[in-house]
Parts: sequence; structure tokens; C-alpha cells
Amino acid sequence: MTELLTREEYGAIAAALELPCNAFIDGSFRPAASGKTFTTTNPATGVALGEVAACAAEDVDLAVAKAREAFDDGRWSRLHPGTRKEVLLRLAKLMERNARELAVLESLDSGKTIYDCETVDVPETIHVLRWHAELIDKIYDQVAPTSDDHLALVVREAVGVVGLVLPWNFPLLMLAWKIGPALAAGCSVVVKPAAETSLTALRLAELASEAGLPRGVLNVVTGSGSDVGEPLGRHPDVDMVSFTGSTVTGRRFLHYSADSNLKEIVLELGGKNPCIVLDDAEDLDAVAAHVVNGAFWNMGQNCSAASRLIVQKGIKARLLDRVRAHARAWNVGDPLDPSVRVGALVSPAHFAKVSTYLEAARAETLHLGGKIVAEGFIEPTIVEVSAADNRLAAEEIFGPILTVIEVAGFEEAIAIANATDYGLAASIFTANGKRALRGARMLRAGTVTVNSFGEGDISTPFGGYKQSGFGGRDNGIHAHDQYTQLKTIWLDLTDHGGSSLD
Ligand code: NAP
Ligand code: MG
Repeated sequence: MTELLTREEYGAIAAALELPCNAFIDGSFRPAASGKTFTTTNPATGVALGEVAACAAEDVDLAVAKAREAFDDGRWSRLHPGTRKEVLLRLAKLMERNARELAVLESLDSGKTIYDCETVDVPETIHVLRWHAELIDKIYDQVAPTSDDHLALVVREAVGVVGLVLPWNFPLLMLAWKIGPALAAGCSVVVKPAAETSLTALRLAELASEAGLPRGVLNVVTGSGSDVGEPLGRHPDVDMVSFTGSTVTGRRFLHYSADSNLKEIVLELGGKNPCIVLDDAEDLDAVAAHVVNGAFWNMGQNCSAASRLIVQKGIKARLLDRVRAHARAWNVGDPLDPSVRVGALVSPAHFAKVSTYLEAARAETLHLGGKIVAEGFIEPTIVEVSAADNRLAAEEIFGPILTVIEVAGFEEAIAIANATDYGLAASIFTANGKRALRGARMLRAGTVTVNSFGEGDISTPFGGYKQSGFGGRDNGIHAHDQYTQLKTIWLDLTDHGGSSLD
């Protein structure tokens, strides 16, 4: 368990940080070809942190060309699996050595609490990289069940040059979810971090280089979605893109692919995830703790956030009492204060978007919160609506607002839970095992948790049903499917007589 420092100590680390601000291409930092930059700010203070390279199509072209060169000459893709493993394990170790600085950098750039960065984001990122590294030399290919006259090998090969387009809600962790299996497979990658949160990806690329990752294998091209994301999505020499973000942008990537080289597209999109609590749920205190964590963790900026509490009538009042009590302990404040649980929303634009939902919430039945604490900060808010199609219950808010919907029983709960275009995650709380399992089967979501909120762990695949995404899963051994493709090698062993068998 990470030992936390004091606010003053974190402040001192922040003041001493050297911010990586240039793009990382072909093993070294370089400014955008145009020389342009954009300002990245700390959303908790509004203070500018630095000027980041504002890359564009020509920088993407360079990064893709370098990634292609690296892939084709085999400096990484054809290394012995054990050697690739060693390099990634060295990276994990280097990150451990720099964990504190990474946590502070992540917090400053995103508004996330230092508590989360220290206890979840950074250690989990390291764990994910290590897990995939360890897997590299333990995956076997297959032999198909042909007749003895043939031998058919079914082998997995790295996809090639991969574009990774990232969101701002878990900058390091989403990077690890994607580069872990991509680098393990032997791919070369071009990462496009979200403009709001580019700094930790740049630092990680620098550490990877120090760990011995050959140049050109991991490139980070900073800039906006339209200037960097789109050229990457349309690039004729990118073999696949793995994207996490909004459904609107995900849809664009399908167009980019269709209009260019039919690159593979993997999409991890949003969610409006239901959390069902039935009358017979046990230990309401524990349920409430899960509900609050599910709704307010990372200020609700979580694609798998439990944002809809679908609760059976008989238990509603007692549950809401406890949920309120737990939520009150989630204090809002300075993200660098280790006692704070709710930090700043990622940007003024996102804060403005979430504020419109807060306004809508004030017109409904408020059970908690409803106020803006300061510019960028919104207190945990619980609002009940009477219609499941109310926009608070239907749209992904991506902020600390939990919407409550009362239901009469199991069937209605499942029907409302499924009445959404999304299908990323769902939870069900009940002491009735049969109902729990029936519910888990009936819920149309990629991950269903029973009597808990969560996303599984690195060993379990994560991804969405319906408009929450498709094309592959992050995490687990299944993530490797994204970054590899199958090849059949068919050998004819027929004895035509007179062969060397005689
Ligand atoms: P977004 O626009 O989908 O951003 C995700 C990534 O796509 C960023 O790197 C972004 O770059 C890039 N991008 C944006 N427009 C693009 C375009 N036209 N072509 C190519 N790439 C493009 O998400 P957002 O605007 O940051 O957040 C909006 C909403 O998305 C949130 O409120 C939330 O509902 C959802 N979201 C979901 C997740 C998730 O984990 N599933 C994560 C974040 C957000 P720039 O941002 O640098 O321009
Ligand atoms: Mg920032």
C-alpha cells in the first residue's frame, strides 16, 4: 500500500517537476513540425502548466513512417518474446521508481485526486504493463485438426502499426491498457493522448526508451483530435486503431477507416451504466459504499461509472439514507490534498457541460448536493427522476451526478437497465443467487458485477455491448486478440512415393 505524503510534500514535488512538452517520435522529444504549441492547464487552479507541441498531419506522417520502419525491420516485432518481456518489465520497474512524480504529474494535468493517482492510477498502470509483459512468453499458437496428410498451423502475428487514441479520464491507465498488449504482441504504436492530458504519456514514452524499447516503437504525437486524431484515423499505413472515448468520435473512426485503408477499428465508448438494488439486498452499508464509489469515483468521469441507481421501492428510503451518508464522506477540494476524494473536472468545457445537467437536476427531486463548489468543482449529487427517459437518466453525464429511478421489482429493473443504447457495465445487488445470475445473464452489458461495483481486473476482458463499442476487448488475455491477426500456414505432407520417407 502506498504511503501518502502531506499536501506540502506533494506541492514541493509539483514545483520541482520537469514537464515533458514535446512530442516523442522515433526515440526523442521534438517540437511540432509547424513549431506550434497549445497550453495545457491544471484544471484545479486554471494555472498554465506548459506549452505542448501542437502536432498535425505531417507529424503523424513522420511518426507512422518511423513506426513502420521499426515494425518492418523487426527491431521489436521479431525480437525473442523473452527479450520483449524483459524490456517491458524494466519499464514497469522504472515507473515504480518514478511513481510519485508520475502521480503528481497525472493529478496536475487532469484534476484527479492525488489519492487516486497514488493508490490506483499509477500502481494499476504498472501492474497492467507487468501482467502483459509476463504473458508474452507464455502464449502458444495452435495446430488445426487436419488429416495426417497435412499440417495446419494457426499462428498469431502482430497487426503492425497501431494508432492508439486516448481519453482524458485515465490518461496513464488507458495508455497501459492499450500499449501493454500492443507492445507485447510486437506492434509499433503511435499514441494520440487527449490534448487535456498529454504529459504522463510523454513521460512514460521517455521511461520506455530508458528501459530499452527501440526507437520508433512507441511514439506519442500530441495535439487535438482534428489535427492529430483524424490524420491518424485516415492514415493509409496504419493497420489498426484502438480508440477509447465518446460514441460520437468513435463513429468518426469507422468513417475514417471506410474512407481510407479499411484499417481495423476497436472502439471502447461511453456508458450509462445501471446499478440495480433489489429489496432483498444484504448489508446495505456495503451496498451504499459500492454505489457511491461507482457513481463518484474519478468525479464520475468514468465510462463504466454506475450512473443510474435502479432501486426497488421497498428498500429505496433505507438505501438512500446510507448512500447519502457515504457520499458525504467524499469531500471536494484541492486534488493535491491527500485527504480529498473529489477533485476537479478535467476542463472548463467539460465543467460547463456537467453544470447544465446539474441545473436540470435542481429541477427534479434532489437527495444530495446540487451545487457548484468552485469553478471546476461539483459536489457529489444524487437526483431522483420519475421517468427513465429523463435526460438525467438517459444521457452520459460523465460527472458526479447519480440518477435514481424507483422500480416495482426485478423484471422492471432489468427492462429499464437495458433500455439504453449503451451496454458497457451493469451491477446487480440481491441476496437471491438465482435472481442474481438470471439478472447477470439478462443484462446487456460487457461486464456485470454481482453484489459489487467494479470492472473486474486485468485478467478479465473489458468492453461494451451495443453502442458502447466493439471490435475487441481491453484487458485479459483477450486483449491480445486486438493486436494480433490469425494466419493459417498449411503444409502438404502427402507421400507421393519416392520421397525421402523411404
Ligand atoms: P472524445 O472527443 O471522444 O475524445 C477522445 C479522443 O478522441 C481524444 O484523444 C480526442 O482528442 C480524440 N478526438 C476528438 N475528436 C476527434 C476527431 N474528430 N477525430 C479523431 N480524434 C478525435 O471525448 P471528449 O470530448 O474528450 O469527451 C466527451 C465525452 O466522451 C465525455 O463527456 C464522455 O461522455 C465521453 N468519454 C468517454 C470515455 C470513455 O472512457 N469511454 C472517456 C472520455 C470521454 P482531443 O480531446 O485531444 O481533441
Ligand atoms: Mg491539463
